[in-house]
Amino acid sequence: MNRKDNPMQNFSPLTKCVHSGTYQDETSRGVTTPIYTSSSYRFVRGEGGVCYPRYYNIPTQKAAADKIAALENAEAALVLASGMAAVTSSLLSLMEAGDHAVVQAGVYGGTHHFVASEMSRFNLEFTLVSSNEPADFEAAVRDNTKVLYFETPTNPLLHVVDLDALADLAKRRNLTSVIDNTFATPINQNPLDHGIDVVLHSGTKYLGGHSDLCCGVALSRSELMSRIHETSVNLGGVLGAPECYRLERSLMTLGLRMAQHNKNGLALAEFLHGHPGVRKVYYPGLSDHPGYEIAKRQMRGFGGMLSVELDGDQDAALAAVERLELFTHAVSLGGVESLVCFPCWTSHAKVSAEERAALGISDSLVRVSVGIEDTNDLIEDWKRALEG
Ligand code: PLP
Repeated sequence: MNRKDNPMQNFSPLTKCVHSGTYQDETSRGVTTPIYTSSSYRFVRGEGGVCYPRYYNIPTQKAAADKIAALENAEAALVLASGMAAVTSSLLSLMEAGDHAVVQAGVYGGTHHFVASEMSRFNLEFTLVSSNEPADFEAAVRDNTKVLYFETPTNPLLHVVDLDALADLAKRRNLTSVIDNTFATPINQNPLDHGIDVVLHSGTKYLGGHSDLCCGVALSRSELMSRIHETSVNLGGVLGAPECYRLERSLMTLGLRMAQHNKNGLALAEFLHGHPGVRKVYYPGLSDHPGYEIAKRQMRGFGGMLSVELDGDQDAALAAVERLELFTHAVSLGGVESLVCFPCWTSHAKVSAEERAALGISDSLVRVSVGIEDTNDLIEDWKRALEG
């Protein structure tokens, strides 16, 4: 079995999607990575350590990790059992009891819930910051702060944070900066190139891309990844070989899929923005979005996620959503098919109603995951639903 030994750094993302990471089996000469189902590997004295799935080192796992590492310009990556396994394993690796984290309040509801309800059980302190201004993150830093945790764009309000400013803050105050890059994907944004320390993904979304896979990824430089690796081995949130294979296979088309997600996201946001039945559209590619200039600087595309406030209350919004034919009312995001959901019932169901209101997530907010279908078909679907 041979690893393709191309140094992929000099290639563009579309080429990395196809070629990086893949292992080729010399016996069969197949061009794709085999699914190594074995949980036991023969030991050879003097030939390195033990190969075992929970150590994240079987070839199918490494192929998926190497492909995403090439796309994020990371020295090393781990593929884990879910996005939350990536979030929790990383935070627990980077903090000791008594340490403090500055966490953006507008992060994914599951992450918010973990921080707010679990961290104190391990004597891990935190401050949730409601603003997206670097100065407000800095004001929350204490003597014992070790981690700065955030998303950009955020789920579901698409807030944008300045990557260069937060990387600079982390360096000055000796913090480890951690970003959940799920919404942008490495096609649209590479936070490590801006000096951010750790990148996380829910691979369940765009990386998997077909709504049939649950996985997560953590990426960084080698020294930080060995810390995350050590804790992750103990926590055991490993991804099995068949899922790793599907992840690697899906990554091959990530660049192509994101081009259509970006095109459809922008077109639908512009259509909804001008529609009299829509009160507000949250999309970083609209010039009246407060983070538009920063997004333009740090993103290569604005993505396929947007949120909307329609005219009327939750019942009216639900009625409009139910008139949609191409957008399924369902949880999750980032797949080839278009989806809509109400964050108050899904991503932020575990965040209290008061906190949701404070975050700006109303009960009638509709989050839209725009798929890769034909642009006009999607716009026509919304036109019918809003006029219905
Ligand atoms: N991060 C973001 C931005 C998400 O949207 C999600 C899930 O919706 C997660 C992390 C958690 O991912 P998973 O459901 O794969 O654990």
